[in-house]
Amino acid sequence: MALEEKTLRCRDCGQEFVFTVGEQEFYQSHGLQNDPIRCPACRASRRRNRNGDGSRPRQMHTVTCADCGVETQVPFEPTEGRPVYCRDCYAKQKKTVA
Ligand SMILES: [Zn+2]
Ligand SMILES: [Zn+2]
Repeated sequence: MALEEKTLRCRDCGQEFVFTVGEQEFYQSHGLQNDPIRCPACRASRRRNRNGDGSRPRQMHTVTCADCGVETQVPFEPTEGRPVYCRDCYAKQKKTVA
């Protein structure tokens, strides 16, 4: 039975994409029974995300402000021995320096 191009709809972005004969042959030769569920662009971006941490939210660290003592969250790992300030105090600091 000859293969034919299929138009599939991507599960992630909802765009239609073509499952080409070449890709179908590739799938068959690798014993893959199912049609792809994502378009090439979404497949590529998923691969990228697995390597980097593109979609992962940044990890926040809870710190105590060195000035006013309030608990605040910063998106970086606090360095030991270096004071960390809350947003307000940080802004104040900058003004004092400037
Ligand atoms: Zn897609
Ligand atoms: Zn503060």
